[in-house]
Formats: sequence, C-alpha cells, structure tokens
Amino acid sequence: MSSAWECPCGVSNPAGREKCRGCGVSAERATMVAAQEGDRLEKELTRYDHIRVSTTPEIPGARSKESLGIVTAEVILGMHVFKDVTAAFRDVVGGRVTAYEKELQYGKQVVIRELRAECQKMGGAALVGVRLDYEAISPSMLMITAQGTVVVLE
Ligand SMILES: [Zn+2]
Repeated sequence: MSSAWECPCGVSNPAGREKCRGCGVSAERATMVAAQEGDRLEKELTRYDHIRVSTTPEIPGARSKESLGIVTAEVILGMHVFKDVTAAFRDVVGGRVTAYEKELQYGKQVVIRELRAECQKMGGAALVGVRLDYEAISPSMLMITAQGTVVVLE
C-alpha cells in the first residue's frame, strides 16, 4: 500500500506498512475487511430509509394525521479523526479535510438513522421538524444531536 491506511481495529498505519501495528493483520486483508464492513454499514445505515424525514413542520406533499411525540438521538464522533492535529495541518488540502467531512457526513447519517429507527418503533411513518445540532465536547470529540417529531401520515 502506498498511502497510510486505517485498520478495522482502529489503528492507523503509516504508508508502506504491510501489517497493522495494532493487531498484525495484513494490509490487504484489512482493506478487504474494511470494504465488507463498509457494505454492512451501508445496509445498516439505509435500513430505515422508508421513513420520511423533513426539517419542515410538515412533509411536503403529505399531511400529518397524528403526532406521536418527540425523539432524540446523539452520536459522538471522531477521536481517531481529530486526534492527529499535526497531520491535519500538514495535509490541509488533502486527505485529512476529506476525512473530517466524511466523518461529519457519516455522523449525520447515523443520527438520522437513529431517529428513523425510533420513529419506526413508535409506529410512525415520518419525522417532521428535524433539527441537527453540533457541539464540541472536547478538542477531540464532537457530538451531533438530532431531534424530530414522529408523525402518522393521512
Ligand atoms: Zn489492526
């Protein structure tokens, strides 16, 4: 491998390293596992996509019949992304910034998925008035919270 790589065990490895310095798995194997893990995550993340989500008080084009209550979700992000501040400065244009953006994107997907899962549990069909908030809880951790109102549609 020509670039630094992250093992599914959570350890980042320098470019050219053939075995993970954390768990000893080969770079090739780690890439394969990461890809499978990616597929599994993708499936898991999209499991509740049939639940409609909107930041507006109503789902455009649909009417709410009943409100079942508020749901909240939170996710704490990023130690492995945020810890390497020197790398972030060294490589501002390249990988690290992309890594931040990816991590944020992923965090948003996760909280919305959690809201949808709650909505489904409550027997709702959609979430309205959805709000996302971000809060730095330490220099290396970011919390994303989400809330929304579960509704039944007409
Ligand atoms: Zn490892």
